[in-house]
Amino acid sequence: MRIFVPPEDIVKKERVRLSADKAKYLISVLRSKKGDKIDVIDGRGKAYNAYIAEISKKHAVINILQETHADIESAINLILCQGILKGEKMDLVIQKATELGVNAIVPVITERCVVKETRKVKRWQKITEEAAEQCGRTVIPKVHEPVELGSLFMNHGSQMNGFIFWEEGGISLKEAVGKVITSPSLHNSNTPIFIVVGPEGGFTAEEVKLAERSGLIMTTLGRRILRAETAAIVSAALVQFLMESAFSPDGQ
Ligand code: SAM
Repeated sequence: MRIFVPPEDIVKKERVRLSADKAKYLISVLRSKKGDKIDVIDGRGKAYNAYIAEISKKHAVINILQETHADIESAINLILCQGILKGEKMDLVIQKATELGVNAIVPVITERCVVKETRKVKRWQKITEEAAEQCGRTVIPKVHEPVELGSLFMNHGSQMNGFIFWEEGGISLKEAVGKVITSPSLHNSNTPIFIVVGPEGGFTAEEVKLAERSGLIMTTLGRRILRAETAAIVSAALVQFLMESAFSPDGQ
């Protein structure tokens, strides 16, 4: 069993202050009992072994046994910038990107986005919390407020490391990763690596040019045109795998 508890509710690494909805989740969903062991994650990279000291219909107390060092987070600081998708597709991308170890998700408004504004950031952040709890991550990815594609590039100057995935061209991902890991502006493994994926209607050639001027590499995922949600999930997995293998000493 595992639950996410915000750092401010972990008291002196001894006990956990449980919110009412977390207590309800323990009692009615997980059907926990007094004495049950439970892992607590703070969403910022810390994890604790704990146990249920008291539990009743409306109340639960969790005491911490020890801090643990789960080596579960990705070695690559991945930021997914996703052209806002309609309906559940965005939920799916956010859930899978969390499972795949992405550290932040930036909903991006592009020229061909059908959805130009959204009030779903809170809902998406909840999805990352649930997905992080489910897969055992200790970090909960941040879902940023939506930003126009042009402003995203403006905010990061011309020093962005990463990839813009374009269905109309680009070099192979393997080649692109080779360029990114040797680029002088890649200071260390904590440098943000951007994955930029378009909405259902794709990117315009101008948007891709802007991205390249910001330092991103135009990259193809092959000749087939993938759905945006497929491209986001596949690119997060492949970039992670290729960069981690390139960074690890024996290249495995
Ligand atoms: N404009 C496309 C068309 O003609 O149908 C649709 C765009 S595609 C559904 C959505 C996004 O997924 C693209 O903007 C791109 O970021 C990514 N994508 C899809 N297939 C890709 C591929 N083969 N290579 C690179 N990116 C791809």
